[in-house]
Amino acid sequence: ASKKAGRNRFTYYERITPVDSERGYRLARQLPDAIVQEQLVLHFQPKVRLEDRSIVGFEALVRWQHPELGLIYPGDFIALAEEHGHIEALGEWVMLACCRQIAAWRMQGLDVRPIAFNVSPLQLRDCAFPLRLATCLQHYGVRGSDVEVEITESCLVEPVGVATRVLSQLQQMGVRIGLDDFGTGFSSLSQIRSLPIDTIKLDKSFVNELRSSKEAGVLVTSIITLAHNLKMQVVAEGVELMDQLVYLKTAGCDIAQGYFLSRPVTAQNAEALLRQSILEIA
Ligand code: C2E
Ligand code: MG
Ligand code: MG
Ligand code: MG
Repeated sequence: ASKKAGRNRFTYYERITPVDSERGYRLARQLPDAIVQEQLVLHFQPKVRLEDRSIVGFEALVRWQHPELGLIYPGDFIALAEEHGHIEALGEWVMLACCRQIAAWRMQGLDVRPIAFNVSPLQLRDCAFPLRLATCLQHYGVRGSDVEVEITESCLVEPVGVATRVLSQLQQMGVRIGLDDFGTGFSSLSQIRSLPIDTIKLDKSFVNELRSSKEAGVLVTSIITLAHNLKMQVVAEGVELMDQLVYLKTAGCDIAQGYFLSRPVTAQNAEALLRQSILEIA
């Protein structure tokens, strides 16, 4: 990964802070209070339709505004939250904050496009997840179709039954479902074809390799074709360069997300982007 990507390049799978480190323990201990004290904040990264560069949605990404350590990225605390039993509380906060933001934008008359939030496999294992989301939507007067949940392939390993039921219930609520980091796990499109998945998000490692590897290009093109045949949309993650964008557009990719288009921004800056509606880039 490039140097300028900085700490943002870390994902769910690559944690920066080892869970058993001193700092890790301290963060994990502080997290429950941090949630209650509203030290968490959502940033929003636009999803851009390649056809016309319009913003078709945002992904909400959580950050921790730590009183002493400054802004901490999820690579530093999501895995900790999962291992220390705080991910339900964190996930609940993210869900609420997301719906609250949608309602606030709606109140200002902004045309809010679906906002996606990330859901941990641990949250999806809970049969009550759809009900909790439904309650949250109702509380803020937000429609199911205004949100999207991003799940990872690890949500789909055992027990698949629960995940399948939860996903179907979400679908019935009009909630869109995106499969994050596609290609890094073990599932193939044929395995997920029966699940109610609307969108697959091509992992940024593929996008990154487009420059150096012909095979990556071939793979990306075939995944896009196959996904379209299965009536799924394709979002490319981690687009950092103009030529990646051009390649993806030619390959028929629907939507892109990445630093080249916009970094994740504060709610206020996201609002400005919403008003502008079309990303003015190179
Ligand atoms: P993700 O869901 O795959 O989100 C994409 C990550 O890639 C974000 O990192 C984003 O800032 C970063 N990114 C976006 N464009 C580019 C690019 O062009 N180049 C590079 N190198 N990176 C880019 P972030 O915000 O640090 O989040 C990391 C991961 O943490 C997320 O990966 C997601 O798995 C997890 N996460 C974030 N927010 C939440 C949350 O509210 N709940 C849960 N359970 N997990 C979350
Ligand atoms: Mg995501
Ligand atoms: Mg992703
Ligand atoms: Mg990722």
